[in-house]
Amino acid sequence: MNAVTHPTARPRINTAPDLNADERERIRAKAALFAPPPAMLPDGRRDLVGLSREEIISELAEIGEKPFRAKQLWHWIYHQGATDFARMSSIARPLQEKLAARFVVGRPGITTEQTSTDETRKWLFRFRDGQEAETVYIPDRREDRGAVCISSQVGCTLSCTFCHTGTQKLVRNLGAAEIVGQFMAARDSYNEWPSPKGDTPRLLSTIVLMGMGEPLYNYDNVAKAMRIIMDGEGIALSRRRITLSTSGVVPMMDRCGEELGINLAISLHSVRNDLRDEIVPLNRKYPIEELMEACRRYPAASNARRITFEYIMLRGVNDSEAEARDLVRLIRGIPAKVNLIPFNPWPGSDFKPSTREQLARFAKIVMDAGFASPIRMPRGRDILAACGQLKTESQRARRAENAASEDASPV
Ligand code: SAH
Ligand code: SF4
Repeated sequence: MNAVTHPTARPRINTAPDLNADERERIRAKAALFAPPPAMLPDGRRDLVGLSREEIISELAEIGEKPFRAKQLWHWIYHQGATDFARMSSIARPLQEKLAARFVVGRPGITTEQTSTDETRKWLFRFRDGQEAETVYIPDRREDRGAVCISSQVGCTLSCTFCHTGTQKLVRNLGAAEIVGQFMAARDSYNEWPSPKGDTPRLLSTIVLMGMGEPLYNYDNVAKAMRIIMDGEGIALSRRRITLSTSGVVPMMDRCGEELGINLAISLHSVRNDLRDEIVPLNRKYPIEELMEACRRYPAASNARRITFEYIMLRGVNDSEAEARDLVRLIRGIPAKVNLIPFNPWPGSDFKPSTREQLARFAKIVMDAGFASPIRMPRGRDILAACGQLKTESQRARRAENAASEDASPV
């Protein structure tokens, strides 16, 4: 049975935002169980990265310093990219020393940094407790700019059957410092400090929260990190340049739209509840109808800022022309674009990528219905930076990838 042509096949649940409040609390309480360790060095020095302006002000008050110092520090940390208090020339030497005795301006450690033949760059970052997560820079082929793909968790609680991260249990959530830190360390690597004034694009011009983990299951840390990144006196990245990808945590989508106003990408992958229940198990909790309603009311969506529907193309599973037509019906009326993702195989995965002919047929139906439907080219395959290929067993994954790459090659 088809969820699109038979929308009443499943009882409808009322999804009014206020009825989501309890659910949001439950999600937050669970997130707290996987909280990151405090952003502090063993010697007790506190990391200033990841603190809100108010938190910096109160840290400074504790050592008898006035609030305007927070503004100065913010400028040095987030506009200039300084990590050394001695470089902060608007602050007198004695205060620099006092700050250095109490605080640090941290960065994640770099376990590996690799640059692909297609110029995609991938870092495996190591945090203070030894946990690691990946960040990828994907340059735009046509322009001197690109996207930084950031992780929000180590592992993931969800277990989408096509996703390698889904085979790793959730280890913990990343803290705001670790989320902002991924972007700042990527900027260090490209020497992109100080931040440009206004909305001037740089190489690292956009952020996509599409790395490891489900960002809406770590909403508080993600939101805090994004507020820091959007702050006009620091990195000052516009909310229009940030996209959060979710597998469909409906109650948190409203919150994200209202509070952050960033772009949304939905990992849809199927137009039928029976299939989506299987490949994106979160669908059993928040079925397609609820997800679509949440998309329709997403505050930041407009014709200028469309919702991206991500659709991973799995051969013989979800890639028929009938499904393409159902997809078009499902998203009609939503300011949307569709991102068709060739499946990246990994060891132990049962799926095969769609053939390039089928990909093209599917894309044409979506395009003819008036939706942009770019096929996401797998990038950085040689360094295992493509979607869904994550750190564990990377050598084996690479061999499997190469073996299957002929079929998956983009149209
Ligand atoms: N948890 C969030 C964000 C991280 S996943 C989410 O699911 O949206 C980022 C994207 O990579 C998702 O669209 C996901 O479906 C896709 N992805 C996961 N495994 C993949 C694979 N093996 N091949 C291609 N894309 C994959
Ligand atoms: Fe988690 Fe996203 Fe992978 Fe699903 S696709 S297991 S939500 S990271």
